[in-house]
Amino acid sequence: MWNSMFRRYLAVAAISILPAAAVAEFARETRGIAWLTLAAAVPGLVGGVLLARSLDERLRQTAAFAGRILSPTRSSETLPAGDDDIGRLSSTLNAIAPRIDDLVERLTSELARREAMLATMVEGVVAIDSKLKITFCNEAFAHAVGQRQVSVGLPLIQVVREPALFGTLEEVVVSQVTIRRRIRMSVGGRSFEVCASPLKGEAAPGAMAILHDVTPAEELDRLRRDFVANVSHEFRTPLAAVRGYAETLLDGGLEDVENRYKFVETILANAVRLNNIAADLLTLSELEDGRPQAEAGPIDVADVVSAAIRAVEPAARLCGVDILSDEVPPVWVRGHRLRFEQAIVNLLDNAVKFNKPGGQVRIEVGAASGDLLQIQIADTGIGIPAHDLTRVFERFYRVDKARSRQVDGTGLGLSIVKHAIQQMGGSVTAESRLGAGSTFRIVVPAVRMCARVS
Ligand code: ADP
Repeated sequence: MWNSMFRRYLAVAAISILPAAAVAEFARETRGIAWLTLAAAVPGLVGGVLLARSLDERLRQTAAFAGRILSPTRSSETLPAGDDDIGRLSSTLNAIAPRIDDLVERLTSELARREAMLATMVEGVVAIDSKLKITFCNEAFAHAVGQRQVSVGLPLIQVVREPALFGTLEEVVVSQVTIRRRIRMSVGGRSFEVCASPLKGEAAPGAMAILHDVTPAEELDRLRRDFVANVSHEFRTPLAAVRGYAETLLDGGLEDVENRYKFVETILANAVRLNNIAADLLTLSELEDGRPQAEAGPIDVADVVSAAIRAVEPAARLCGVDILSDEVPPVWVRGHRLRFEQAIVNLLDNAVKFNKPGGQVRIEVGAASGDLLQIQIADTGIGIPAHDLTRVFERFYRVDKARSRQVDGTGLGLSIVKHAIQQMGGSVTAESRLGAGSTFRIVVPAVRMCARVS
């Protein structure tokens, strides 16, 4: 640095000395006096040195200013302007600096906005460079690959253990062609629709991938398929019976005086069963529709309980089962009266159907915690095995299919109860001891408690 400065001083001094040298030459030529040469050279030398130092200082300031233009801590300083080249350069830099500030600010906030958008996306997003190192990923991606957090710069192989996903990204980096495929993670079992594309515009192009979780959609698809299979299976048995007995009647059964009534009765029983299944399916589809019920209003619980008991009493008498109920407190709940009544009837009906002769069913209504009301239906029946207890609310789930059919069950009763009570903002639970009996509990928000006018 000192060398270059020294050379610059010499150059300036030499330029300043030139007129002095000419005078000296003249003096020498004219055999003039030596001091004339000196007198002419000294001011030039001093002026040259001062000029060079000032130029150097201004250039240094300009260079420092240019170096600070991108610094986030730069103050609003400006360079002194001037008429010479350095002055003009300073004016240009003064004008450019705020525009660069503005540009940097806009780019920074745009970058922050995009990062925030990517970070909050429900889809997993990952970007990698050509060396398969992670340059960006959001939280959803980390969760999708079973990690809590992923640091930028990590090799993809360390983060993604799923060979299909790793292979897809690697393939895109090599081929630079977009790939879409559905990948099921071997750990966790979730399925993702993956769209991996090349990240062009870089010297060594990488890739990025978006992972869309399709597990809920796949689950829904599976449920729908199961449901269709179950429905057709449920319809097939009674339909086969109807068809079989009708054919028997046509093939001479009509003349069989001893059995023809039995054949017709079986046809009727199966037609009733088909009708029950269709009615339950319709109710269930209305309940699952999720639309707010137009007829929802306050329901007098005591009214509903006594109507439900009246509905199952004939069947209970036939089975030799007693239905016991304490006086129901004056309480109202909000919902669709017919659906609520159907839920209580279904629970009482099961408590009777899956009971033993001489058994009991007890219905109790009382306050649960807060503003919640509890309706409990307990029986002394056959009970439910522990491993079936969590599944009895599923559509068409029956512990003992043969017994359920025998007692006219459709396997949809408890699903209807669950949906009807959920629509009222409540819940239903079950507990049971095999051979000793079961207890079903409904908990629903009570509208108000007040004395009933008799
Ligand atoms: P179903 O029409 O067969 O009664 P539900 O959905 O009402 O269908 O009940 C599902 C199954 O749960 C029944 O088939 C039965 O196996 C069992 N279950 C329900 N309630 C009781 C109960 N109170 N006691 C014993 N088993 C019951």
